[in-house]
Amino acid sequence: MTVFNNLIAGEWVGGDATDNINPSDSDTVIGRYVRGSKADAKNAIAAAKAAFPAWSRSNPMARHAVLRKAADEITARKEELGHLLASEEGKTLAEGIGETVRAAQIFDFFAGEALRLAGEVLPSVRPGVTVEITREAVGVVGLITPWNFPIAIPAWKLAPALCYGNTVVIKPADLTPGCTWALVDILHRAGLPEGVLNLVMGRGSVVGETIVQSPDVDAISFTGSVGTGSKIAEASVRQMRKFQLEMGGKNPLVVLDDADLDVAVDCAVNGAFFSTGQRCTASSRLIVTDAIHDRFVAAVIARLGGLTVDNAVKDGTDIGPVVDQSQLDQDMEYIEVARGEGAKLAFGGERLNRETPGFYLQPALFTETTNAMRLNREEVFGPVAGVIRVKDYDEALSVANDTAFGLSAGICTASLKHACDFKRNSEAGMVMVNLPTAGVDFHVPFGGRKGSSYGAREQGRYAAEFYTTVKTAYQSAG
Ligand code: NDP
Repeated sequence: MTVFNNLIAGEWVGGDATDNINPSDSDTVIGRYVRGSKADAKNAIAAAKAAFPAWSRSNPMARHAVLRKAADEITARKEELGHLLASEEGKTLAEGIGETVRAAQIFDFFAGEALRLAGEVLPSVRPGVTVEITREAVGVVGLITPWNFPIAIPAWKLAPALCYGNTVVIKPADLTPGCTWALVDILHRAGLPEGVLNLVMGRGSVVGETIVQSPDVDAISFTGSVGTGSKIAEASVRQMRKFQLEMGGKNPLVVLDDADLDVAVDCAVNGAFFSTGQRCTASSRLIVTDAIHDRFVAAVIARLGGLTVDNAVKDGTDIGPVVDQSQLDQDMEYIEVARGEGAKLAFGGERLNRETPGFYLQPALFTETTNAMRLNREEVFGPVAGVIRVKDYDEALSVANDTAFGLSAGICTASLKHACDFKRNSEAGMVMVNLPTAGVDFHVPFGGRKGSSYGAREQGRYAAEFYTTVKTAYQSAG
């Protein structure tokens, strides 16, 4: 069995390893991945610190070349990497390849950005004096990522971090280290100097904590749960360090009476159940006005009945397994909680057995739910959604915004007036009209409000806000 090591100071470093299990076939081990120690994390941080002065002043063409080379290799290997992703996380092969292509696009975009980092020159209010405003790398950046987008999220943190001249220690989720290992291997071979990029796989409580507690880490970009995000925020504030958090969602999809029914059903089924509902942008609250409610529910149930839940890499699979037993237990617990609260299970919610032993769950649709139920207030992070019946647009908007989260929000309507009003008044960071709530393009900002996000946006040119620091310099003609 191949053992995949950590990359520290340009060397592949071994240690205790753990099995990476395929959730579609839990008897299958994808590979053994090293679980780093606190000492590994400290060595990685020291290596990143030592590499920072040279990398932060490196020729932008050098940074461009590495990122471009990485983009090309990811693209060339998209089927293989997509297969790895589907095997370790449980997304379908098509979703895995799509996410891999997204990772390549992100590296391609930031390869270009490395050559486009501009500043400003302004006349001072003092005669004969000019002011320059420039952006510089922040320093050693700690990147901590979750299991649900195992190639896209590491890519959207790694590419801008390296593009702007930072050095990196990355810790992927213990559950899905394979895609990050592959990305780091690609970047390492693309020509990064030793210590610029360090990979320390392992547990959050060991490796993650060491990164978070280190005074030598100048910035932390984190995606994951609200609980872990809060801990990172507290530790970072104590150290006066820059940090950025992307956390959960309880995203609403509003369906108005005048919506195109097919579009609304597509948006709901895609947004709530594809990627097994394991998306921070999943539309888990379907807020539907009276006159279309029954037709919409019947059409969603009909569509769900035609979907195939099976092994992620099998032809014809629409929805892969849940990522592991513990997430499956959480999904089943919420299904019981919703039942107990009086919601009606209108479809699914059953464990499924397939040819290969995996964590299969039939998508669950609840009706007759209220926005006060735990089902509609807490993030399930699985293929479980609740329909909330409302009387009109105004009530729909108010219910949509009545949540602790604010990542993504959608509306399906033919009314320009309501679409415009929703774009303006939704309290979410990303708004979709007649489109699923999931995902935004790689060149535009991703992020939310309220309990979903904290700090600067990720992706696109907005990434420079986090991965650079601004300097204001004065010069007199003398
Ligand atoms: P966790 O917060 O449990 O884990 C995220 C990462 O943090 C993992 O690498 C984990 O390590 C690490 N970690 C855990 N404890 C600590 C700690 N004390 N110090 C430092 N690092 C730590 O989240 P999940 O992996 O369960 O991810 C799912 C969550 O991510 C969901 O809530 C989802 O909404 C959110 N998410 C948000 C997105 C967004 O952009 N808003 C996008 C995607 C997901 P390990 O697991 O290896 O122990």
